[in-house]
Amino acid sequence: MIFDVKNETLPREDMERLQLRRLQALCERVYVNVPFYKKKFDEKGLKPTDIRTLEDVRLLPFTDKQDLRNHYPFGMFAVSRDQIVRIHSSSGTTGKATVVGYTKRDLETWGQLMARSFVAAGATPKDMIHNAYGYGLFTGGLGAHFGGETLGAAVVPVSGGATRRQVMLLKDFESDVICCTPSYALFLAESAAEMGIDIRKLPLRIGIFGAEPWTEEMRRDIEAKLGIKAIDIYGLSEVMGPGVAIECEDAQDGLHIQEDHFLAETIDPDSGEVLAPGQEGELVFTTLTKEGIPLLRYRTRDLTTLNTTPCRCGRTTTRMRRVTGRSDDMLIIRGVNVFPSQIESILIETEGLTPHYQLIIERHGNMDTLEVQVEVNESMFSDEIKNLQRVESKVTKNIKEFLGVTAKVKLVEPKTIARSEGKAKRIIDKRNEG
Ligand SMILES: [Zn+2]
Repeated sequence: MIFDVKNETLPREDMERLQLRRLQALCERVYVNVPFYKKKFDEKGLKPTDIRTLEDVRLLPFTDKQDLRNHYPFGMFAVSRDQIVRIHSSSGTTGKATVVGYTKRDLETWGQLMARSFVAAGATPKDMIHNAYGYGLFTGGLGAHFGGETLGAAVVPVSGGATRRQVMLLKDFESDVICCTPSYALFLAESAAEMGIDIRKLPLRIGIFGAEPWTEEMRRDIEAKLGIKAIDIYGLSEVMGPGVAIECEDAQDGLHIQEDHFLAETIDPDSGEVLAPGQEGELVFTTLTKEGIPLLRYRTRDLTTLNTTPCRCGRTTTRMRRVTGRSDDMLIIRGVNVFPSQIESILIETEGLTPHYQLIIERHGNMDTLEVQVEVNESMFSDEIKNLQRVESKVTKNIKEFLGVTAKVKLVEPKTIARSEGKAKRIIDKRNEG
């Protein structure tokens, strides 16, 4: 099923024509209404009318998170305050938060794109959606909420927390779809088991997971433990929120970008040079239709590749490979580049281990050390010491072999690593402390 057949299956030439028309209008709008962009255009000697082809997007300046922080809170808005009907903000875990504003039309578009996303994931207007994304300044909760209602489904606005009650509601309301972070889905399954409830036997059939990077191995684990289809959703508050791109249930092979609203590029993160489809680079979005806070070439820091080949679901939109690493998340340990997702893959593939882990990085003198703490499952825990030691050395060996870095692997008791109701805290980097 496709929610918006016309726009999700446009022939390539029609899509590009639409994108160009919107890009040209966008440049006019930001030039007139956003002093930051007017200055950037003027510095480059660029006029909005210089954008004659889609390729000309390369002439436009980049925007990054720091630009939004520098104009905190509303300096990048392109409309007057009275036209803004909603504000969201990023968590601001590092530095000042970024603030975004939506007009009435922005919210309608978001609702439409989230409805498209639900349908791509296999949901229907008859479904009950258990929405465990946090409600509040974070875009996840309200974004998914409004999309579910636009679809005509029934939304249960559970938000995060009170996990045992969530399990009870899932069971009593017989929800069909759940939205939350992938790590929280596993925590729910664990809590259900403790309550004597087999979550796989509930009517739940689809999970829409995002807001933190996760791996293919983690997907298989979630699908097995919850007895559902696990779909990856992508979004970020600066660009809109959840629903910028979504996997289709048919292929589960890359996320369809809502290209009529977001123009995607991948670039070399160092030189800024645009890369060809299939080449890995940093994902960059230009928001073609946004009114409240339109952005030109926003650098997401997420690494991916773009795939322009047709998908078997019938959608013609470009797909992005699932994001398993954010360039900010990449750890450099003794000169070796390591993504937490690579370690996660190794852990999940190992018999007896769970996807609950933490990476602790310290510096002793000039030497970085990496410790991987990972929980064992119950049966492994009651196993003999020598078997635990065997698993520890196997994981150590695999990390060394596949990633080229020496790690100290420490197996810990089940349920000793703190659970999160939102994004899991997986990295504790102590190198910059004192
Ligand atoms: Zn598809």
